[in-house]
Amino acid sequence: MGSLEPLSLRALFEIDVGQLRGVGPKKRSALARLELENLTDLLTHYPRRYLDRTRQAAIADLTEGEEATIVVEVLRTESRRLRGNRVLVTSMVTDGQSRMTLTFFNQGWRERQLRAGLEAIVFGKLESFRGRPQMTNPVVDLVGNQTGKIIPVYPQSEKAGVTSSDLANFIGEALRRTITNPDARSLVDPIPEQTRRRRGLVDRSTAMVGIHLPEDHEQISDARRRLVFDELFRMQVALVRRKRLLETTQRGVAHRSGGPLMAAFAASLPFALTAAQGRAIAEITADLTQPAPMHRLLQGDVGSGKTLVAVAAMLTAVDGDHQAALMAPTEVLAEQHSIGIRDLLQGLDVPEPSSLLGSRPLSVELLTSRTSGPDRKRILGGLSSGLTDVVIGTHALLQERVQFHSLGTVVIDEQHRFGVEQRAALRNKNLDGTVPDVLVMTATPIPRTAAMTVYGDLDVSVLDELPPGRTSIATQHVEAAGTLDGQVPLELEHMWSELREAVASGRQAYVVCPLIDESEKLEVASAEETFERLTARELHGLRVGLLHGRVSADDRDTVMRTFRRGELDVLISTTVIEVGVDVPNATVMVVLDADRFGIAQLHQLRGRVGRGADASVCWLVASPTTPDGEARINAIVDSDDGFALAEIDLELRGEGTILGERQKGRNDLKLASLRRDREVVVDARRAAVELLDADPDLSEHLALAEELRFFSDESDEEFLLKG
Ligand code: ADP
Ligand code: MG
Repeated sequence: MGSLEPLSLRALFEIDVGQLRGVGPKKRSALARLELENLTDLLTHYPRRYLDRTRQAAIADLTEGEEATIVVEVLRTESRRLRGNRVLVTSMVTDGQSRMTLTFFNQGWRERQLRAGLEAIVFGKLESFRGRPQMTNPVVDLVGNQTGKIIPVYPQSEKAGVTSSDLANFIGEALRRTITNPDARSLVDPIPEQTRRRRGLVDRSTAMVGIHLPEDHEQISDARRRLVFDELFRMQVALVRRKRLLETTQRGVAHRSGGPLMAAFAASLPFALTAAQGRAIAEITADLTQPAPMHRLLQGDVGSGKTLVAVAAMLTAVDGDHQAALMAPTEVLAEQHSIGIRDLLQGLDVPEPSSLLGSRPLSVELLTSRTSGPDRKRILGGLSSGLTDVVIGTHALLQERVQFHSLGTVVIDEQHRFGVEQRAALRNKNLDGTVPDVLVMTATPIPRTAAMTVYGDLDVSVLDELPPGRTSIATQHVEAAGTLDGQVPLELEHMWSELREAVASGRQAYVVCPLIDESEKLEVASAEETFERLTARELHGLRVGLLHGRVSADDRDTVMRTFRRGELDVLISTTVIEVGVDVPNATVMVVLDADRFGIAQLHQLRGRVGRGADASVCWLVASPTTPDGEARINAIVDSDDGFALAEIDLELRGEGTILGERQKGRNDLKLASLRRDREVVVDARRAAVELLDADPDLSEHLALAEELRFFSDESDEEFLLKG
């Protein structure tokens, strides 16, 4: 029977977990809650760590502060209520020689879980409490009666009703029934032999067995290396392939570089381009003059001058007799861009041989949902006739009614707020079937390897330098009130008086309200409460505005405009002001409960000040309660380099949040980590490029092509047209 066809992941996907011995209806639905419904799901549910019975720690051998995994038996468990409705569960356990206490805060269910006599593996840091060994909130795994020297510990959910040992049993059974018994088959290996050999990677069947049923540590690391490569390689082949398909199947707009408009624009700038801007513009111009449409990401820290680069890309389009569009995620940002860009483009003329003067003024329009009926009609007319050269707008630009005479360049600002479909909608705006060049701008820098993964189908330009003469932003951490054992929070008082002084001298300030993840409603309530409290005391007598998620778009714009005109001194806001808002007169930023925000968010928030000629200050009010919260605050205080902060962020948070929208579902990285496996990302991309150079349509790598289709979850045709 060993000659049967190897099994593909798609074939395993067709086998329901319910077919495994021991998986009845109850376990079946428990597994479903963990999103483990078929053998592919199950076999790619990898252990999160391993317990080596031969290297077990004993409680007595540990020193305080040491982290360890210990196999214990539960002696007794009790729970009691603490003040503030908190629950404390304590469990006395033994490793056979010494005893230790486990304490759990707010995990009432542990009382039921840790019954006397139960064997469990605990992982945590050894503490000493009144001279006795203790662990607080350790990770607890139940391995049941598993045998073997090395025991895999699976991500599990006690509450879902599946334990790590259940998972080990089901996975062991799945492996036995598919690949480990003598009559069984092997797994399809989509990685080309040569790619594998050069890297010394084991085949997929070996890796699958090695990761789930290892006999030694070397087997685990070989298996892991192979499976990590699997995930990253598959991802890179898909991305590089999509990029190439776009390049070869789409007909771009013919641009002309070095035209008169660009020349006039360059001559009109009151400053020299930064070297980074020059580089980015050269890269973009090179793309524009290619026959294939551009798909480029422009990454640049807050204030690095992305707008100017975008304008250059748009003017190149107009120089070649085409039009350009810039799409922003909100009305406020679109309006702001419209003001800034009109300013930059003032006085520029478009050559027009047919007119008496031989030229006409460059026409720039703003189109949002607020645009009035008559204006809208006029602008739509200008876009379809070609009389409008540049249009700046919001989602309103995506509407079907908006047709262009010839759309040459599209700039999308802050793309993480736009989906892939919306990008696609913009590409279909030309009646002649040509596809405009697309430049995506983001002010959220991400590390190179992450960019390769998240934006692997785009080329990337980076603005890694700020224009000269920027005033720096002094960033300071201020302890929140009430945490210093009755001490008067002098720092805090000082902060508010500095804010008032800045306002007295004509400056403006932002106050960012605490972030409340659980619900928008709570966040709004908290913002309103903050507003009431501050206007009654610290900000009494100042002109203060309030912005939050429940303020209607219209009112929000009104508040923003009022603030921009200087008719408000202070803007109290939730993170709705996070991206791109540009009011140079605002020089003070206060972030309340700053330890609750992510690093990227804090950096963006801070970027709202320091935009004018005056020195700015950013106060982070926080009493961090977690090591991560503290690390985030320290990082922001210590650095204002967005790329350096992005690296730290990746270290602290992992990749989930970065991958966000772009990588969902089956295509998730299950084992690979963009942090730990940075080099593999780069290597996998290299391997993907090599492979596709040699075999662009994968006709000689059918197993790989088939697997990519499976992971992309689409039919052939859709897969080919994607983008
Ligand atoms: P961001 O990358 O955050 O969008 P902007 O494009 O808004 O940055 O530019 C920030 C500010 O820097 C603007 O006021 C812009 O006029 C100015 N600026 C851009 N490029 C330069 C340069 N090369 N030299 C001096 N100032 C510049
Ligand atoms: Mg900007």
